[in-house]
Amino acid sequence: MRTFTYQALPMRVRFGSGMLNELPDELDALELASAIVLCTPAQGQLGHAVNDILGDAGRGVYAHAEMHIPLSRAEAARAFAEERGAAAVVCIGGGSTTGLGKAIALTSGLPIIAVPTTYAGSEMTPIWGLTDHSVKKTGRDPRVLPRSVIYDPELTYTLPARVSVTSGVNAIAHAAEALYAPDASPIISLMAEEGARTMLAALPAVSTNLGHQHGRWEALYAAWLCGAVLGATTMGLHHKLCHILGGTFNLPHADTHTVVLPYVLAFNLAAAPRAREALARATNTDTPAAAVKKLADSLGAPPSLASLGMPADGIAEVVRQAVDSPYSNPRAVAAEELTALLTDAHTGAWPREDILL
Ligand code: NAD
Repeated sequence: MRTFTYQALPMRVRFGSGMLNELPDELDALELASAIVLCTPAQGQLGHAVNDILGDAGRGVYAHAEMHIPLSRAEAARAFAEERGAAAVVCIGGGSTTGLGKAIALTSGLPIIAVPTTYAGSEMTPIWGLTDHSVKKTGRDPRVLPRSVIYDPELTYTLPARVSVTSGVNAIAHAAEALYAPDASPIISLMAEEGARTMLAALPAVSTNLGHQHGRWEALYAAWLCGAVLGATTMGLHHKLCHILGGTFNLPHADTHTVVLPYVLAFNLAAAPRAREALARATNTDTPAAAVKKLADSLGAPPSLASLGMPADGIAEVVRQAVDSPYSNPRAVAAEELTALLTDAHTGAWPREDILL
């Protein structure tokens, strides 16, 4: 019989269409008098609308969130929060915006209310990341876990088709690795399988009809589950590779996850039978790794690392970094196998048929 430890994270979730309008109530419920709003430049209009919804409690908008959270940007955002004397930070956007809020919370302890508009899942985790001189550092700290998360599917209607797919597969990657994580537990496995299954089913609808109400609800619900299992477990080879690829070649986060995931699953699942069974049920096939690849390809996702701009001669460096730093994975990783995996992912070729897919 298995033994396990499950640590529930203190987290309040409000979910539903139009839920953004409940933001002032949420601030009141948490006894927070005021907040600044963070967003990306592209979501500036939405950020200002959120500041308006906050009414007298709104302390202004900092619309400069960007991918990988450069330290200088984090410091500027911290100064903005301090100047405005805000009691809280509202992050409206994807993982980059939530990440900027986490950078503020890490040093100030200011509570975060997250309003996610992608499927990245950062809002459900105590994991922060900061980039200084091209080196991305990450860590876990309970201060950066949002106090409250407002999921409003209507905010995802504008997410472009391709980003919907790659962000959705990014979420599935959290679920897949949670299923074979060393610190998985029965409740995490239930959430992970449900998250993967629901996201896989929703992606065709939301990528062909951006305003598909039911599909958007399902995809965001799946993103919540996938983010929750990311926050509760230790990720393996897939997240390690994506972290190295993103940091070394500045590749886009969700695109990289989408290209790499099927290859890592093809490599890992033979060594992770329970995860394999769960993903076979979630994909409704006997070949879950191939099913993820087929779905992503059919919905127009990027087919290879080469198509994202990674140079072929960079593979050796990724292998070196991955083999050098230890991490948890169901299957031991040797340099030669990893080179083969990355070579396939680089060209978009599907691995040999004798691998259990
Ligand atoms: P992102 O936040 O960078 O957003 C990508 C782009 O999509 C941005 O230009 C943004 O303005 C736009 N966008 C977001 N929502 C939109 C919407 N509804 N409609 C139209 N445009 C929209 O991308 P992401 O994939 O959500 O997040 C990636 C970042 O999050 C990475 O830096 C990654 O490391 C981090 N991340 C962290 C964790 C964690 O637990 N700490 C988890 C997942 C991701």
